[in-house]
Amino acid sequence: MNKNAKQKITLGIILILVIVLCALYVQFNNANPTNNLTNKYSNVIINNEKLNIFYFKVGQADCTLITINNKNLLIDAGNKSDGDYIVEFLKEKKLDTIDYFIITHGDLDHSGGAGNVLNNCNVKNMFMPEGIEEAEENYQSLKSVADSNNVQLSKVEISDKFDLDKANFEILSVKNNTNSSANESSIVVKLNYLNTSYLFMGDATQGIEKEIKSDSVDVLKVGHHGSNSSTSSEFLDMIKPKYAIISAGINAKYNHPAEQILQRLRDANIQEKNIYITNNQGTIWLTSDGTNIEIQTRQDINLDGTGQIGKVDILNICSFFNRINYSLLAC
Ligand SMILES: [Zn+2]
Repeated sequence: MNKNAKQKITLGIILILVIVLCALYVQFNNANPTNNLTNKYSNVIINNEKLNIFYFKVGQADCTLITINNKNLLIDAGNKSDGDYIVEFLKEKKLDTIDYFIITHGDLDHSGGAGNVLNNCNVKNMFMPEGIEEAEENYQSLKSVADSNNVQLSKVEISDKFDLDKANFEILSVKNNTNSSANESSIVVKLNYLNTSYLFMGDATQGIEKEIKSDSVDVLKVGHHGSNSSTSSEFLDMIKPKYAIISAGINAKYNHPAEQILQRLRDANIQEKNIYITNNQGTIWLTSDGTNIEIQTRQDINLDGTGQIGKVDILNICSFFNRINYSLLAC
């Protein structure tokens, strides 16, 4: 091997070491959000005069924040690894007083981050289905965190109604104290704001959809991450949504959303541009003045705890090597 080749190899090794160290630094910082106020979301300017709904990107999980005039409704809290990121966002945007906190059901992709929210935010009212055997363990562990924070974990019933500033919401479905599956027990919420309406399905199944009574809505948060077991054509015929939002992870094992669901949404006359999916588009941020609805997609509001670790670093390393015309097997 000549001297030139040796120098190149040494330079290559040093470069790789520097990049790996930089990547580890970025990863460490991303993976450990503190609860101190930061300016990470300084580009997120919330107009409190309007209704704001954040359908957060939390991977293969669910977390939706509804905020209007400093009144806040949080529906689900993602996986456990998302909890720190959810709290970080809420604290920075001063939305950490939660008037209503709904855990649609006990599965960990909805309830996993709830402990972090309870420990770090001021939760005034909290609802979750009660007495569901399949979800009992998660219910009890959350109840003990709620108890230690002096928060009452309550149950709701169908037709219960609550005010949220000029908006209000109603419970359209819930199962308490039955042997239903956790998904079937899901709390389904309909939010009304002046001339607009919004439906949040949790992981409710097609069987539950048959029991729901609702007139048309503007925006559907599609049930069960776009699984084929939810969102029947009959249900879409009844609620006639103009927009559909799906929360699903990239390359998640269930492969949500199902292609059949996307087709059913198109068949229900929802325009392709009005179907939003968090996996590729990031957090979906909706604002409304009560008549008009505006939606933007924001890759800079990624609260996916698992997704933040490592992903950025690999991408950075690959793009660097591509730029200097090296090809790495991992890229
Ligand atoms: Zn789920």
